[in-house]
Amino acid sequence: MIVVMEHGVHQEKLEKVVDFLKSRGFSLHISQGIERTIIGVLGDKTQKENLALEALDGVEKVVAIITPYKLASREFRNTDTVIKIGDVTIGGQELQVMAGPCAVESREQILETAEIIKKGGAKIMRGGAYKPRTSPYAFQGLEEKGLEYLAEAREKTGLLIVSEVMDTRSVEVVANYVDILQVGARNMQNFPLLKEVGKSSKPIVLKRGLSATIEEWIMAAEYILAAGNHQVILCERGIRTFETYTRNTLDLSVVPIIKHLTHLPIIVDPSHATGKWRLVNPMAKAAIAAGADGLIIEVHPDPKEALCDGPQSLMPEKYFQLMGELEQVANVMGRTLQGTLHFDKTGTEG
Ligand code: PEP
Ligand code: MN
Repeated sequence: MIVVMEHGVHQEKLEKVVDFLKSRGFSLHISQGIERTIIGVLGDKTQKENLALEALDGVEKVVAIITPYKLASREFRNTDTVIKIGDVTIGGQELQVMAGPCAVESREQILETAEIIKKGGAKIMRGGAYKPRTSPYAFQGLEEKGLEYLAEAREKTGLLIVSEVMDTRSVEVVANYVDILQVGARNMQNFPLLKEVGKSSKPIVLKRGLSATIEEWIMAAEYILAAGNHQVILCERGIRTFETYTRNTLDLSVVPIIKHLTHLPIIVDPSHATGKWRLVNPMAKAAIAAGADGLIIEVHPDPKEALCDGPQSLMPEKYFQLMGELEQVANVMGRTLQGTLHFDKTGTEG
């Protein structure tokens, strides 16, 4: 439940209510706004124990939250969460594109791709150093060496870096090198990992599980929020259906649904959602038109040689073309896509 305190409530009264709730075993999340102070009351029994809280001095009203998620809900916070990393914002007016290869393959590949990504105008580079592969015989990633290459790319280009963390043991090392931690689809319900990244000061991209319902996905975000990290970016990356033509089925309706239910930013990954580079451009534009706050897209300097996910990776020219087209969709949506675009719509340097 949420306890809304009276306008301009005195600190002493606030403390009394807080002590009362703590004595009942609840954990609290206090949000002190300019207008109002609200207390998010967390615990299993909030509904049962509809304590006579409204009788307490300084309390204006008590609102029950009927959804199982609390901190992620719109009831708890009705203004959109905007995550700031330096001068880059995620969830604000500006859209963000995270682009780069599926996997870090070599120093040369990463430095070359970083130049391409920067040239196209994206501000965030993706690249996996720890790869969750279906086959144990497939390329597993360069691990810490890969993180070093990503960090070097950031130094050279100023791009921010997002990279996946697969287990609790590597949260610290990944967080040392990157700006945003990614929790992959296969780990969406790895609860120890969610709790661990919840302790990090870095923003988290939380991908939707392959077969996760919307509520399960938001509950996974709730784990991170409840552990103290309020910088969660949800990422729709397609779900399992009966369809086999595409790698997954992109659920775009989830974008307005997430916006309605939560205050968290949401981005879309049309690469893993479709598995086919031809579908990336139209689905990326559709995602922005649906209200997404950004995209995460696979781009490779030479997709046919990629060690991972070549068929869904955009060639540099296709990436440039997409960035040009996205700017127009962004403008229709009243959003901006910052960055210097040096390319016209056909991808020719202009
Ligand atoms: C990825 O983005 O590199 C990835 C493995 O995606 P997902 O977890 O969505 O499959
Ligand atoms: Mn991939």
